[in-house]
Amino acid sequence: MIIDESRIDKKGIRVSDTYTPDDRLLLDGESFFRKELSFSISMLRDSDKIKVAGSFKTDISVRCVKCLEHFDFNINSKFDSILFPLSLADFSYASLKEEEMEYIFYSNGKIDIEKLIIEQVNLNIPLRVVCSDNCKGLCSMCGTNMNYEKCKCNSSIDEINVFNNLK
Ligand SMILES: [Zn+2]
Ligand SMILES: [Zn+2]
Repeated sequence: MIIDESRIDKKGIRVSDTYTPDDRLLLDGESFFRKELSFSISMLRDSDKIKVAGSFKTDISVRCVKCLEHFDFNINSKFDSILFPLSLADFSYASLKEEEMEYIFYSNGKIDIEKLIIEQVNLNIPLRVVCSDNCKGLCSMCGTNMNYEKCKCNSSIDEINVFNNLK
């Protein structure tokens, strides 16, 4: 969904939608959408800038880094950002103030809403996500998921293995 910036005035506009994003837009290749993504964002003009406030929710299937099982990760989040036209950005003189470094730039007067939202979704997925604080992970010897069953590898072997991994 592309919004023409000329549509956005001081009164602002609100856009909301529910759709199914492409899984390939998720940074983590193991993740995929479990349900539709719903969002609502408001955009308000402030001279050259456009202030954005949004909220969104969805469920994503992510893979635990310890046991490698997929589980549902619920995202229900809000964000604020400032959009700034790329054409007015003066990078050559490094004139951007520090706070301006956090601006999101857009070009040709077009604001890509879905891109904005997907960036926020990706920011909400932890890099090393774990299914639960109690996840026991996989046995380092046989790969058994220790959350479900105990394997036959005895603990002394596990200790030796851990020791070897530290070297
Ligand atoms: Zn796990
Ligand atoms: Zn084992």
